[in-house]
Amino acid sequence: MPFEGLGPGAAPLALVDCNNFYAACEQAFDPALQGRPVVVLSNNDGCIVARSREARQLGIGMGVPYFQLADRLRQLGVVVRSSNYALYGDMSQRVMACLEAQVPELEVYSVDEAFVRLPALAPRALSTWAAELRVTVRQGLGLPIAVGLAPSKVLAKLANQLAKRDPSRGGVFNFLLEPWREPWLAQCPVEEVWGVGRRWARWCRLRGLATALDLSQADPELLRRKLGVVGLRLQQELRGVSCLPLELLPAPRQETCVSRSFSPPIQELQPLREAVASYLVRAAEKLRRQGQRAGCLTVFVRTSPFAAGFYGNSASLRLPLASQDTAVLLQAALPLVDQLFRPGRLFQKAGVLLQELQPLDQWQGHLFVSLSAEQRQRRERLLALVDGLNRRHGAGTLQWAVAGLRPAWRLRRDHLSRGYTTRLQDLPLVYAR
Ligand SMILES: [Mg+2]
Repeated sequence: MPFEGLGPGAAPLALVDCNNFYAACEQAFDPALQGRPVVVLSNNDGCIVARSREARQLGIGMGVPYFQLADRLRQLGVVVRSSNYALYGDMSQRVMACLEAQVPELEVYSVDEAFVRLPALAPRALSTWAAELRVTVRQGLGLPIAVGLAPSKVLAKLANQLAKRDPSRGGVFNFLLEPWREPWLAQCPVEEVWGVGRRWARWCRLRGLATALDLSQADPELLRRKLGVVGLRLQQELRGVSCLPLELLPAPRQETCVSRSFSPPIQELQPLREAVASYLVRAAEKLRRQGQRAGCLTVFVRTSPFAAGFYGNSASLRLPLASQDTAVLLQAALPLVDQLFRPGRLFQKAGVLLQELQPLDQWQGHLFVSLSAEQRQRRERLLALVDGLNRRHGAGTLQWAVAGLRPAWRLRRDHLSRGYTTRLQDLPLVYAR
């Protein structure tokens, strides 16, 4: 029944999700791509990570290596794009800002998804509201969204899938208006229930729990014994009882990682140092944006796992004083690269992990390392200036020389679209006659 089990204080919510987000961003800025099949490739033009609806209809698979399909895509007239994360990240923020203006509360769940608290309207009026929200986002940003309304998060996820699957629903599925949820739950394989990982799914299947409906009707004692309170919550959510609150503030990050593959591989020490240095510069920027310091850092490198003589290794170092200063972190990281390097190896990937992150307002001094408050503030002002310039004028405007000025190991991005929303010189041009 509608509102069944909706406890006191709990209010219905919705999952808003952008359809085919990366491909849709590409289509939004290039009118020639509208209605055409578009695929977006992962870093280094490796695999297909996003497909427009038209590409999906051609039967192009997700995660397929690009080189395997390149010829076929050309024959089919599919437009290929390298991933343009500057564009997607910026569009993501615009989507969230647009939603935030329309709802009382919002939890950003991923780059293209948010759980939102709904305005206080009757269930039927909420469907109309959701349809209007779709129009607002489409008009403002050129992006299609789907809205799933439900009494709980797990059901909102399912409602969103249903909104996308059935075109006659117009991108909105409202569980609050469905008198019988059972048939919908019965259509949903247990693997597709939000929160059910691969291991749980296998455990469920072995006990004959094949669908969301089976899981919602399973013996709670059985779930509690195997899956604990998390399993019980999941079951309650499937029954329409909200147990998972909206998380309005993202949990502070415990670690930050930046890693990339190289193409072609790196054989010399110098370019490997440059690559690691450039990842560290990025990671330190992230750290400062999050208002954190790192207490520990790890550098890792590896050769291709598919080539003979695989070599992969990592090295960590605890900093005497937690830091967010790029220079301090570089000084710690570069000797680790020297230590991990092996002559004659073809390195294919490297990365940096910043760990033991702590908020800036917790400052712990060190007995043997002196750093006056004045020295620290001067460094912080300098780094804020560098970050500000790079944000305004594009990443790499001010670069650390150790990261290399014209690196040959940079990402392969042969099909990159422009930074329509983040670079002044890439602004779309409109000609009027
Ligand atoms: Mg999506």
